[in-house]
Amino acid sequence: MPTRIGVDIGGSGVKAGLVDVERGVLIGERLRLETPQPPTPEAVVEATAEVISEFHSEETIGIGFPSIVRDGVVHSANNIDPSWIGRNVFTVFGEALGDVRIVNDADAAALAEAEFGEAKGVAGTVVVLTFGTGIGSGVLHNGVLLPNVELGMLELEGVAPAELKFSAKARRREDLSWDQWGERVNRFLRHVERILSPSLIIFGGGVSRKWAEYSHLFDEDLPVTPARLANDAGIIGAAALAI
Ligand code: BGC
Repeated sequence: MPTRIGVDIGGSGVKAGLVDVERGVLIGERLRLETPQPPTPEAVVEATAEVISEFHSEETIGIGFPSIVRDGVVHSANNIDPSWIGRNVFTVFGEALGDVRIVNDADAAALAEAEFGEAKGVAGTVVVLTFGTGIGSGVLHNGVLLPNVELGMLELEGVAPAELKFSAKARRREDLSWDQWGERVNRFLRHVERILSPSLIIFGGGVSRKWAEYSHLFDEDLPVTPARLANDAGIIGAAALAI
């Protein structure tokens, strides 16, 4: 059974698991540490190394990283320390962890849903959204990823980036009821649907577990479904990428 370690670095937690990359499932427990504050390169690498050491394993490591990463270089820092910008992730993580594979966290989730989840075999455009500290997005067309699409950075209803108003964190920060948040997110989904005409929108992030609380507020004609791999999609996608 081919296994890899997948790590999902988020705004609030660094999560990791040992993944069976043939079946796309976690083997054993998923481990989590709080994301250090401030999330500087040194602090995040230390937390990642700590969580990985728990597996006592020499498996290849794949990391989902919460910002734009192009040719290894970090180009945005909405949920991480600004000192990441311009840094090369392979150099920063490589010093502590050796050879790693790295991809945007939402792109990792999209790859996992394409290989093992709701996007498998779906023709046309599929948009995977992850609602957490920010809003991540992974866009697939006929199963092929268009990397670094940042739908959370749209301007909507006068707010830019829109994730400040529509993320799961915004619900907690503004103390919104599930209904209030559901209505709000419906407008975000509608906007995304207008722009990209997707065959399917996959709703991911930790909050996808609470789907029953808010999904009745989504317009019936929106082609939206909860992520099959829920909040593990980022870990599984990052590990699968590390093959
Ligand atoms: C970042 C994205 C990331 C998302 C989810 C956003 O703030 O710009 O790159 O995928 O948060 O972590």
